[in-house]
Amino acid sequence: MKIAVLPGDGIGTEIVAEAVKVLNALELPLEMESALVGGAAYEAYGHPLPDATLQLAKQADAVLFGAVGDWKYDKLDRPLRPEQAILGLRKNLGLFANFRPAICYEQLVDASSLKPELISGLDILIIRELTGDIYFGQPRGRRTAVDGHFPGAEEAFDTMRYSRPEIERIAHVAFQAARKRSKRVTSVDKANVLETFQFWKDVVSEVGLQYPDVELDHMYVDNAAMQLVKAPKRFDVVVTGNMFGDILSDEASMLTGSIGMLPSASLNSSNQGLYEPSHGSAPDIAGKGIANPLATILSAAMMLRFSLNQEASAVRIETAVKKVLEQGFRTGDIYSAGTTKVSTIEMGNAVVAAL
Ligand code: NAD
Repeated sequence: MKIAVLPGDGIGTEIVAEAVKVLNALELPLEMESALVGGAAYEAYGHPLPDATLQLAKQADAVLFGAVGDWKYDKLDRPLRPEQAILGLRKNLGLFANFRPAICYEQLVDASSLKPELISGLDILIIRELTGDIYFGQPRGRRTAVDGHFPGAEEAFDTMRYSRPEIERIAHVAFQAARKRSKRVTSVDKANVLETFQFWKDVVSEVGLQYPDVELDHMYVDNAAMQLVKAPKRFDVVVTGNMFGDILSDEASMLTGSIGMLPSASLNSSNQGLYEPSHGSAPDIAGKGIANPLATILSAAMMLRFSLNQEASAVRIETAVKKVLEQGFRTGDIYSAGTTKVSTIEMGNAVVAAL
C-alpha cells in the first residue's frame, strides 16, 4: 500500500509527523514516501506543485496531506501561491468528492461554543463537490495582475458553473452515503438567486428519484448556515457545491469544539484519495509544537478505511483517539480546566500508547 506523504507548510510538518508515527505503530505493510508541496516546494523548486510531487501522488494509493500556505506568499501571482497545490492535486487526481464528518466527541462537548444539549451526539457528514463551481471558473484579470493584485482596475469577476455529470456524480455519492446512515440528504443551494444552483437543485432532485428509500430536502445556503448553529442535529448528510461546502464545513467544524479535530477525505471515482485535516497551515502557531494533530490522525484513519480497505485499523485509530480524550489529554485548542494540556508530539505519543 503506497502512501504519498505531503506535509506542506506551517503546522503541516508537525501534525503529519504524528499521523505517520501512528500509521507506523499499526505495523501494516505501508510504503510511505514524502515530497515537498506548497510554499516549501515553491522555495525549493519555484512551484507549489512540482511535477515530481504530482507524479508521486498519482502513483500512490492515497495521499496524506498536511496543509499549505503562509501570509508571506500573498504577493505571489495566484498560480504560484501555495494554495494552488491543493487545487492542482484535486484537479489532476480527479478528486471530486470531499467528505467532512463533523462528530462531537462526548469528552469535548464543553469545548464547543454552543450549548452542550445542541451538539451532544452530533454526527453529520458534509459532502462538498470539489472540482467545479466558482473556484474553477474563469477568473478575470489574471493577465493584468501585479504582485497578485489589480491596482487601478475597475472590476474583477469569477464565473460559477456546474455541468450535469459533475452534479450527478456528487449526488450519487451523497445518496449512497446516506443509505449507510440515517437515509436523509439535505442539498444546499442558492437556487433563489443563482442559475447555477437552480440547475444543481433540479439535477440533485432527478438523481434522488433513483433513491426512493432516501429522504431528500433542499435548503438555501443562508438558512443552512443559520440552522447549523441553531439546530445542527437536524442534519445528517449535507451535499453542496464547492464554495458553499468550503464555508459550511468550517462552520460545522466549530460545532465539534475545534477545527483541529476535523478530518477530511477527498476521493475520485476509483477510491484513490487525498486525506487532510480540514484546517489550514495555521501560521500563527506554526513551530510552537502546540497544534492539535488529531484531525490529521483521524484523516489517516479515513485513508485506511476508504482507499486502503483496512477498516479494522481505521477503527483502532478512532478508538485510540477516543481513549486519549477520555484520559483527559488536550492540546491548547481543546483544553479546559481539569484536563491535561499536552504538546503536538505528546498527543501523538498518547495515541500510539492507546493503540
Ligand atoms: P487555519 O485553519 O490555518 O487557522 C485558523 C485558526 O485555527 C488559527 O487561529 C489557527 O491557529 C487555528 N488552528 C488551525 N488548525 C489548528 C490545529 N490543528 N490546532 C490548533 N489550532 C489550529 O486558517 P487561516 O489562518 O485562515 O489560514 C492560514 C493559511 O492556511 C492560509 O495561507 C490559507 O490559505 C491556508 N489554508 C490552507 C488549507 C489547505 O492546505 N487545505 C486550508 C485552509 C487554509
